[in-house]
Amino acid sequence: MPINNSSLPFSAILLDMDGVLFHGMNPIDGAMDFMQSIEHIPHIFITNNPIRLPESMADKMAEIGFKRPEEKHIITAGEATAVWLSQQKPEFHFYAIGAEGLHKSLQKYGYEDKDNADYVVIGEGEGIDYASITTGINLILKQGAQLISTNPDISVDAFYRGKRAIMPGGGALAAPFIVATGQQAVTIGKPKPLLYEIALQELNVQANDCLMIGDRPDTDILGAQQLGIQTALVRTGRFAAGENLPDGMSAPNWDVENLMQLKKLLGL
Ligand SMILES: [Mg+2]
Repeated sequence: MPINNSSLPFSAILLDMDGVLFHGMNPIDGAMDFMQSIEHIPHIFITNNPIRLPESMADKMAEIGFKRPEEKHIITAGEATAVWLSQQKPEFHFYAIGAEGLHKSLQKYGYEDKDNADYVVIGEGEGIDYASITTGINLILKQGAQLISTNPDISVDAFYRGKRAIMPGGGALAAPFIVATGQQAVTIGKPKPLLYEIALQELNVQANDCLMIGDRPDTDILGAQQLGIQTALVRTGRFAAGENLPDGMSAPNWDVENLMQLKKLLGL
């Protein structure tokens, strides 16, 4: 069947990754076929996961069997945090707690400095412990450093030491610092607008001419709706088929079991 692009009500696509395209190193059924069918449509991946750098995320996609995306087409919460901090304060000093990818993203724009940090940045991954919490809260309370959280997720569904597991998300890891200091964190990832805004700018499209595909109503879908981006919820992540949307949320434009069903509905 010939593809008729003009019938699509959008001209670009934003995609979440975990729970939409893969779980760990396993592709989700229909995801590779879907990616092939949108190859001709401009698209960008936006992920709240700050653990890997975009280049490492692209390698992972290729390793799983997807076509390797261009690195500039993957925007992680770690990268967005680094860009945002550099806009607040060029050559900022930071103390970061989280995976190596977070440190590397921040090092592109700022300087690691646990004695005189402007920002205490909390991301996902290992690294948080008694000593790091102590260092972080002293920087905030005694030196006026600002608390930054890469993403608000309470938990993430991924693989831990080879087994599928629920792990603490950026929101949970920032909690001890919020409790100990009485200060709120500035949060960067979805549903906050920054990741979407960077992607829309890169794609050079208006929000209402774009589709966001995600597996989490409370982050992927809600944030897109707030900006006027069209939305498709796939129920292949933590949010299962048949589960009700969180209270007060309006329905996504497409609510589908998986990408195969979305492909069919869009006539791709
Ligand atoms: Mg996801």
